[in-house]
This record gives sequence, structure tokens and C-alpha cells, in this order.
Amino acid sequence: MFDNLSDRLGGVFDRLRGRGALSEADVREAMREVRVALLEADVALPVVRRFIDAVTEKAIGQDVLRSVTPGQQVVKIVDDELVEMLGGEGHEGLKLDVKPPAVVMMVGLQGSGKTTTTAKIAKYLKEKHGKKAMMASLDVQRPAAQEQLKVLGEQADVATLPIVVGQQPVDIARRALEASRLQSFDVLMLDTAGRLHVDEALMAEMNAVAQVASPAEVLLVVDSLTGQDAVNVAQSFSGEVPLTGVVLTRMDGDARGGAALSMRHVTGKPIKFAGTGEKLDALEAFDPKRVAGRILG
Ligand code: GDP
Repeated sequence: MFDNLSDRLGGVFDRLRGRGALSEADVREAMREVRVALLEADVALPVVRRFIDAVTEKAIGQDVLRSVTPGQQVVKIVDDELVEMLGGEGHEGLKLDVKPPAVVMMVGLQGSGKTTTTAKIAKYLKEKHGKKAMMASLDVQRPAAQEQLKVLGEQADVATLPIVVGQQPVDIARRALEASRLQSFDVLMLDTAGRLHVDEALMAEMNAVAQVASPAEVLLVVDSLTGQDAVNVAQSFSGEVPLTGVVLTRMDGDARGGAALSMRHVTGKPIKFAGTGEKLDALEAFDPKRVAGRILG
């Protein structure tokens, strides 16, 4: 995760720290290198610009260059700005303090990792927060999608709504709400259908489900390996459905990290979780401070 960027930035900062004194030109030169590194990591251009401007202004404008350890101070400024870029201090958790069942609606394109992530989050809520969750698949498009969620539920030891063949998404959502109320579930996870592209039919279906289910959280699942496409997908979705957060999957294979670094500023939506593998416990509560620490080594 972030390996390439981490290596590149590590080189720049070692050089900065190695010098006793720093001039304004040294800072500008280092920032040029950081700029290239961020662009190569596929971070969106406006986000890179804002980042470089903020760091340069803070590093040159204050007493940093006259301090005893200017290199260290510049690195500290970079760290702070990275945390900001990733969404600010601390993990932004799920807001589930509503009358149960709190509905979590999972949306995203086909193949993004949505079904796997639905089960991962249900398992996480059970194990980390003691919440009793039920899952229901509303995906009547993809053959075997409902069966896939059932199998994942068995693996995670999380209940799934019994499958009724032929039932349509809104009706499945109603039945799932009813069942989770009757059986006193704290959380109901709704795995909606994905399509290959963002299209009107997909958005209409999601909105119809959202109207019935009044979700406490609407999480968009996107594949971090798709880089700026992931950010574009998030923008398209957030214009159509009331997203409350993003889950970035396949972070385990993402050496660049552009989606993670651009998501907050481009879409305004917090990254709440990161998928870090195929196993059901490969889910991390996304914490900007920890992620920035990882990037800076
Ligand atoms: P969906 O079509 O969006 O529901 O996608 P699936 O949940 O079926 O996932 C598609 C594939 O991606 C499966 O093989 C998953 O095991 C895999 N996958 C999902 N999340 C991750 C992740 O965070 N890391 C890795 N390496 N694989 C993942």
C-alpha cells in the first residue's frame, strides 16, 4: 500500500533532513519533487496543487527555515497536510445511533468488491461493536449474487435474509426491514445491485430502495486500483444518491494510492473503511493519521 509514493517521498525527506540549513529555494526544489511524486501516484491535479501550495506557504512563511531542525519541521508540515488531504484526524466511523435496525446501504459498480465488503462490515460490527447484523442481497441482476452473500454470511457467522426467488429489490428491502425488526437486529446491511457503468436504471433502483429503507449510512464501494476512475465514480454517485461515505477496496494491491489521496477533496466524502485483502477480516477502519504515517514511513 502506497509503496511507490512512500519510497519517493522518503528520498526527498531524507535529503531535507540531512541538511543543517534550508533556503527557500531548497524547499521549492523539494516541493517540485513531491509534486511529481504525487502526480505519479495518480493524485488529482487540483488536490496536488492545493497540497503543494499549503505546504510551501507554511514552510516558507513561518520561522521554519530559521529553526534548528528545518528539515524535520518541513516533514512535520507535510505530515499534517497529508492527514488533512486524507480527511483529517481520526477514523470517521459509522453513525448507527438510530432506532434499530440501522440500515447500511452498500452501493457501487459490479466487481468493486461490494458483496465481500458488505460481509466484512457486518463481521466487523459484530466483533468490534457487538452489533447483531443481518444482511440482505438486493442484487437480482447478477446470477448467484444472493447465493454469494449467503455463503459469505455463513463464513462470517452473520445472518442473511432467506432468498425468495423472483422478488424485486424494493420488496426484498421491505421484507428485510420487517424481518430484522421482528428478530431485533441492530443493523441491516443491504447489498444493492451493481452494474458495469453508472447508469440511470442503477440510480433509480438505489433511490427507490433508499426511500423504503431510510438508510443511516449509504456507503459507496470503489476499487482503489482504478485510481482517478474511482474518484469519478464517487462523484457520479454522490450527485445521485445521498452517500455518507466511501469504502476503498483492494488497497492491499494499490502501490500508488491516488484514489485514497484524492477522494476526500474531490468528492467531499470521507473514506470510512479500506479493504485490504480477500479474507473477511481484511478490513481496516480508515484512519487518515495512521495512513499518513504509513506513507511517510
Ligand atoms: P461485487 O461484484 O462488487 O459484489 O464484488 P465482489 O465482492 O464479488 O468482489 C470481487 C472480487 O474482489 C472477489 O474475488 C473478492 O474476493 C475481491 N476483493 C474484494 N475486496 C477486496 C480487497 O480489499 N482486496 C482484494 N485483494 N480483493 C478483494
